[in-house]
Amino acid sequence: MTKKNNLPPPAGKSGLLSFSYSKMSMYEECPLKYKFKYIDKLKEEPKFYFAFGNSVHAALEFLYSVKAPPFPSLAEVLEEFRRDWGLKSWAEKGYKVPSRADADMLKGLEMLKAYYNHNREKFKPPFLVEYSTDVEVDGLLVRIIADRIEYVGDGRIEIIDYKTGKDVKRSPSQLYMYQKISEIDPRLKEKIAETYGARVSSVKIDRLLYYHVPTLKEYPFERADDREIGGFWERVLGVAENIRGLKFDPTPGEQQCNWCDYKKFCPIQSGVPQVCQPELLGTPDPVEALVDRYGRLKEKMDQLNAQLSEVAAQLGSAAEARGTQDLAGGEFRVKVKKRTGFSFRDREAVKGVLERFELYQKALTLTHTGIAGLLKEDSDIPVAARRELLAQAVEKTDLEIETFPKDR
Ligand code: SF4
Repeated sequence: MTKKNNLPPPAGKSGLLSFSYSKMSMYEECPLKYKFKYIDKLKEEPKFYFAFGNSVHAALEFLYSVKAPPFPSLAEVLEEFRRDWGLKSWAEKGYKVPSRADADMLKGLEMLKAYYNHNREKFKPPFLVEYSTDVEVDGLLVRIIADRIEYVGDGRIEIIDYKTGKDVKRSPSQLYMYQKISEIDPRLKEKIAETYGARVSSVKIDRLLYYHVPTLKEYPFERADDREIGGFWERVLGVAENIRGLKFDPTPGEQQCNWCDYKKFCPIQSGVPQVCQPELLGTPDPVEALVDRYGRLKEKMDQLNAQLSEVAAQLGSAAEARGTQDLAGGEFRVKVKKRTGFSFRDREAVKGVLERFELYQKALTLTHTGIAGLLKEDSDIPVAARRELLAQAVEKTDLEIETFPKDR
């Protein structure tokens, strides 16, 4: 296992970078803060507002986790809130004094009562509740968690996100992330087929909705257009590239530093340059980082080489079928040359034949090319030697493909 303070950027399966909207926003807030949290895995202080929001979410999840009416009663929903609330002590939830925690518990109960009474006539079994998915895209493994998803029909969905804070922070980026990922998530199509028996070719966001539970207000957003999503995605890929490149310079600011739990580790706060205290700050060991970088690049290269061989073989067949060496695409043209030669099964056996027939000098080198030269029709080696060498030889065809830009 990698040492805690020297972890490479978090990678999911197959070297994919695990990513989410919250990771991206923390990186954009301060790359060093991101590193402390997601790479060094230093714990943040518990935040009471997260604990409060989590318990309200748990109660709403319980309310909507029905496949068919009846829905849980109000008393059952409130009980679920109390149960979740009781899982942690006031201090574990991040309160400084128990009285604040008690006040928030009452606030949560009132909030849920109001929500229940306001919406009870509209309750209908949702398509999905607390839907969590990890989608592979562009070298990333992106996670989204949707509080609730409704199916509108024809592959269209509505995503509902509950907000429990003072106000609704309208973050288009979070919505863009929901849209981008849910529309390419193959599992959603399967879920639609399973639940509604409808085989849809694509999933499209109909609208996204922030539901502000304290005020019972809805904030709907239409589907973003391709240009907006494209710009957002460029931003995502830029952040991912910086994380992969281990770019974690701090970007201090009043807002982010005031609420940062890592002040005691931060060189900006202590005045000590980060580079002077790598252990304390969890700076990756440069050699370890290089090794991991090499490993990741090598993995990528192996994958690319495998793809290259596959495409080269297909080009070889295409050139043969068309009876030409020259093939052209939109941007490139290629010259495909076939070379036939030999490889040898058992190097020691080949050496033995060469020695017995005193052909060592003739072969010049013990490379495949040198030995294969002896097998040419015009080489004057004894018939028996030729026969024995041929018994060790396997004929093979290699493709040599030269590539040129189309305009040359
Ligand atoms: S204290 Fe400020 S500069 Fe330092 S890690 Fe936290 S947010 Fe970044």
